[in-house]
Amino acid sequence: PRLANQIAAGEVVERPASVAKEVLENSLDAGATRIDIDIEAGGSRLIRIRDNGVGIGSDDMPLALARHATSKIASLEDLERVGSLGFRGEALASIGSVSRLTLTSNNREEGSEGCSALTEGREMDVQLRPAPHPRGTTVEVRDLFFNTPARRKFLRTEKTEFNHLEEVVKRLALSRFGVGFSLRHNGRVIHNLKGAETTAEQQRRVAAICGPAFMEQAIHIDSDRSDMRLWGWVALPTFSRSQADLQYFFVNGRVIRDKLVAHAVKQAYRDVLYHGRHPAFVLYLELDPAQVDVNVHPGKHEVRFRDSRAVHQCIFSTLHRALADVRP
Ligand code: ADP
Ligand code: MG
Repeated sequence: PRLANQIAAGEVVERPASVAKEVLENSLDAGATRIDIDIEAGGSRLIRIRDNGVGIGSDDMPLALARHATSKIASLEDLERVGSLGFRGEALASIGSVSRLTLTSNNREEGSEGCSALTEGREMDVQLRPAPHPRGTTVEVRDLFFNTPARRKFLRTEKTEFNHLEEVVKRLALSRFGVGFSLRHNGRVIHNLKGAETTAEQQRRVAAICGPAFMEQAIHIDSDRSDMRLWGWVALPTFSRSQADLQYFFVNGRVIRDKLVAHAVKQAYRDVLYHGRHPAFVLYLELDPAQVDVNVHPGKHEVRFRDSRAVHQCIFSTLHRALADVRP
């Protein structure tokens, strides 16, 4: 089973950013409202993620680390309408097979003690010992790829790896305004985002993540149709940026990259006046979960819409109207 885990790890665990993504998604699935992330050396030395979610009972600790063990789906039908971010039950097992992983958790209220399990690469004997922990979970991943030197060799510089990891945190922080996030790298605070409820607080978070210039030159849109809602922020043509693309699109709280979506956005921009410019946006599409299939790709960045024409039309017309309104 160890070898199988290491092979699976190749799919799930490409670099520190992919570890962070899996662990953070587990925290969100556990209903955390506060997540603290500590990174050392771009994540190759340490990725520590602490949440205040439901926690894991001591009986379930070995299961959480076992391959194909998930508490999130019980049947094939569940898979159809899975609302959680993870459901394949192999992330922790895979990460544990290529690192020194400590899982510490407590699923009970204050005053109770939690427990901790340590796995180290191939020696996956999960030893449980009592450990103090408030309700919630801490996953500590040390020395990623210490036992797979070939993969370790493919890691880029500390800065590059951290940038990838930070991007993962940004996306998730944009996808869950209600959750507080902190991110530290080598002891330095990079982000400290309090839970955002009001529009003003949400705008503050978007500004913190996308830069104040984006927020200053973005318009807020919100189109409520009976069957779907598109809301968020799109930049005006006065906003120009030197760095990479600033394009975030979320469907029912999940980050997605989708050709249909990209096409609809681009067409709306081009139609109004934004010739030759890359649109910049943070957009949220909310629709009946039965109308989207999120299990198309294990990377989970792709979706399939039941009625893709309606989605295209909603994005195009909403953006077109908003942009035409502010045309100078
Ligand atoms: P999956 O997310 O696909 O179920 P994982 O390997 O990522 O698989 O996690 C295995 C199981 O461990 C989860 O189904 C969940 O029960 C438990 N688990 C992992 N992380 C957490 C967490 N932060 N809080 C509560 N439970 C967790
Ligand atoms: Mg998971």
